[in-house]
Amino acid sequence: MTFFGRLKKIFSPARTAREDDSGRVEPGEKVRGRPRVHVLATGGTIAGRLVSTGPRYRAGVLGVEALLDAVPALRGLADLSGEQVANIGSQDMDEFVWLKLARRVNELLAHPDVDGVVITHGTDTMEETACFLDLTVHSPKPVVLVGAVRPAGALGTDGPVNLLDAVTVAANPGSVGRGVLVVMHGSLFEARDVTKVSSSALPTFAAPNSGPLGQLIDGRTYYGHRTGLSPERLVFDVSRLDKLPPVGIVYGYAGASALPVKALLDAGCRGIVSAGVGSGNLHRDVLATLADASGRGVAVVRASRVPSGLTLRNVEVDDNRFGFVAAGALNPQKARVLLQLALTRTRKPEDIQKMFDDY
Ligand code: GLU
Repeated sequence: MTFFGRLKKIFSPARTAREDDSGRVEPGEKVRGRPRVHVLATGGTIAGRLVSTGPRYRAGVLGVEALLDAVPALRGLADLSGEQVANIGSQDMDEFVWLKLARRVNELLAHPDVDGVVITHGTDTMEETACFLDLTVHSPKPVVLVGAVRPAGALGTDGPVNLLDAVTVAANPGSVGRGVLVVMHGSLFEARDVTKVSSSALPTFAAPNSGPLGQLIDGRTYYGHRTGLSPERLVFDVSRLDKLPPVGIVYGYAGASALPVKALLDAGCRGIVSAGVGSGNLHRDVLATLADASGRGVAVVRASRVPSGLTLRNVEVDDNRFGFVAAGALNPQKARVLLQLALTRTRKPEDIQKMFDDY
């Protein structure tokens, strides 16, 4: 490269991804001494726009370029590249986008010039995507999910500052080895415990059992507990999968019916997660149907609809007798993610329980 070419490269913002002839997007070469962060955009309110008629706004409208252009200060933090993986409201997130994301994140982080990945995402199912990636990304480099509750153009929109915080965390070497993180409203959360706790107010996320991992104050990251992922941590190889085993969730309530369980079994579910009451308790009719299903080789995981606390084995339900698995700290939607991954390896309840205990 010529002297002027090199100068141009150093002084250009190196913001956008390079696209080769096949349309494939690659992060550019790293400028010495600057962290390089790649942004994968999937949609959500952070990419949403206010509309004048009908619903108040539409999620998943703005592209990755517009998101990055809206926050010029990002360029002071890292060399950024970006690509669009999807542009959807995260209520439409599914295993196919998950598998695509997992593959792409693993590929990007294997690149020596990439220091971290930020994923922009709707808040509705962000916790499930974070959990899925926490269980399928092999690199210790930072992976940070971020979103917004207020769309671009709304008064007090939270997207730009959240994105700035997310890139701050992804570019920070102190974030290495902490697993997949969610950064929202000045807090930093681990994928395993974070959950959406308000459908309208800020802050929107909390980690009911463990609390936030850290905080962002004036652009600086303050980390709390947990240092370094164990090399023996639970991680699944999804590089050759194009779908996941079907697993459904049944909700518990007073007077619950076994009909939804039967419908899921008839539809061929290989696993069922019960979002039970209290410590994962089940109405007797639901219990009988799930016990029968478990006896026929369907994996049954007991979680709870209660927002905090643990679902432990053999408290009021005889898990040993029925061959059930207890979800521990995982809420029902994350228990489903882990059960789908677990079923790619085994159907044995004791092996699945071990995975829940190990995560
Ligand atoms: N339902 C949309 C989504 O999850 C908007 C919610 C949000 O992003 O805050 O993508």
